[in-house]
Amino acid sequence: MPIFQDQKGKNISNFQKMIDEKKNTIRKYYDEIGHLYYSQYKDVNVDSTKDINARCESISNLYIEIEDLNVKILRERGLKKCAVCSTENNLSNAFCFKCGARFDDNDAVPADVIAPPNASATPSRNQVKREIPATVSETVVADEVIDAADAANIDIAEEGKEE
Ligand SMILES: [Zn+2]
Repeated sequence: MPIFQDQKGKNISNFQKMIDEKKNTIRKYYDEIGHLYYSQYKDVNVDSTKDINARCESISNLYIEIEDLNVKILRERGLKKCAVCSTENNLSNAFCFKCGARFDDNDAVPADVIAPPNASATPSRNQVKREIPATVSETVVADEVIDAADAANIDIAEEGKEE
């Protein structure tokens, strides 16, 4: 077996292990929610709402993390899922072969890989444009913002071509 295939397999089993751990945590939280709800049912003086909500929020976050890991597993297998119809597509597809929906992540490279490390430190053109003195009329500001957005779109398209 080629070395890189072996590495992919390792990555996938690591992701799978993380998913299993998160699913166990979710089960634990569901269990705790059940107990908290029951204690509230048994004694009207007990209010477990805060504790129950905190666990519900944690469960929601865990589901998001699991979904991220599933995306990573698919990527290791050279696949990505259509956000519209959930069909698995090749990573290189720009459009879903089944429903035709456009993939925003064209090459499926994570955003943090594409973005330069100092991206957040540099203010975007829109932010700069918004720093217009309050005396300027609102219509002018709106036009400026639209112009900035147009300019940004053109830049994005050109960057795409260069790659
Ligand atoms: Zn689709």
